[in-house]
Amino acid sequence: HAKHLGGNGFQFFTDSLQAYSLDRLQLENQLRKALDDDQLVVHYQPKLHLSTDQIGGAEALVRWQHPERGLIMPGHFIEIAEETGMIIALGDAVLVKACQQAAEWYHCGPAPIRVAVNLSVQQLRQNHFAERIAQILESANLPAEMLELELTESMLLEHLDAVTENIAALQIMGIKLAIDDFGTGYSSLAYLKRFPISTLKIDRAFISELNEFSEDNAADHDAAIVRAIIAMAHSLNMNVVAEGVEEAGQLSFLKQHGCDEVQGYLISRPLPASGFTALLLENAEAQAPVQP
Ligand code: C2E
Ligand code: MG
Ligand code: MG
Ligand code: MG
Repeated sequence: HAKHLGGNGFQFFTDSLQAYSLDRLQLENQLRKALDDDQLVVHYQPKLHLSTDQIGGAEALVRWQHPERGLIMPGHFIEIAEETGMIIALGDAVLVKACQQAAEWYHCGPAPIRVAVNLSVQQLRQNHFAERIAQILESANLPAEMLELELTESMLLEHLDAVTENIAALQIMGIKLAIDDFGTGYSSLAYLKRFPISTLKIDRAFISELNEFSEDNAADHDAAIVRAIIAMAHSLNMNVVAEGVEEAGQLSFLKQHGCDEVQGYLISRPLPASGFTALLLENAEAQAPVQP
């Protein structure tokens, strides 16, 4: 077969590699322009509080409204942004938009929503990151308690002075810190006592196979892990959010075991701000006492 292809096999390989790099280079240049032209948009996914049945929080998730390709998901451009350093400008733009939106919900309703923003380690390594956050909160007129920052386990294992100092400053300001994708990162839990973490977000890998019968199945390791994370978080005075909740059976398991909040397609997909506001209004209506 290889003989039959001869030199053409190699030709094909270089052609597709070239096509790939061209595409990647094009996307990189377009992303730079997207930052200048304000093509990034932020969608919001609700977090449902289980004991009150209220939406009290949202995760801000970036999307790129590309002029020709349409809406591009972060899986296609966050890595490019990380590799080129554009993640710092991108992350800043997301923070500004998310804080402005949170301020609108806080001051104008329909309800105060704590907005959680994902951070890159490159942002946290910046010397004046905490001061930049203070500036953003002030110009948006948002109380610090309404902002949450989502970090990953690996970010807290860096032992960099800038990271440690930023985190301490953010906590003093009253900003909440969450660990994203909890359980999939590094095995050491030591950082949990070194850093002022308020929330653990259980990775969806542990949630996807759960169902209402998981409890009775001794071989269900996911169920055991989820119960253990909830128990550990609560004994450390932390909140627990389950990510990627798609099915009613998963919700009932999480409810039964005292998980504080859930996030996932079962509640809602990430929505543009206007759709999120509409969802809040619908929820308020559904919960209001019926008028005679
Ligand atoms: P993440 O922070 O873990 O965000 C959760 C991801 O899971 C989101 O994907 C969300 O749409 C998706 N998701 C939510 N519910 C479900 C569900 O029930 N089932 C499944 N299968 N998926 C669900 P998205 O929006 O594509 O974002 C992917 C990742 O990109 C995020 O993972 C985060 O790591 C990163 N990201 C997004 N926005 C930003 C940002 O502004 N800055 C940085 N640095 N990273 C971001
Ligand atoms: Mg996240
Ligand atoms: Mg996550
Ligand atoms: Mg993730």
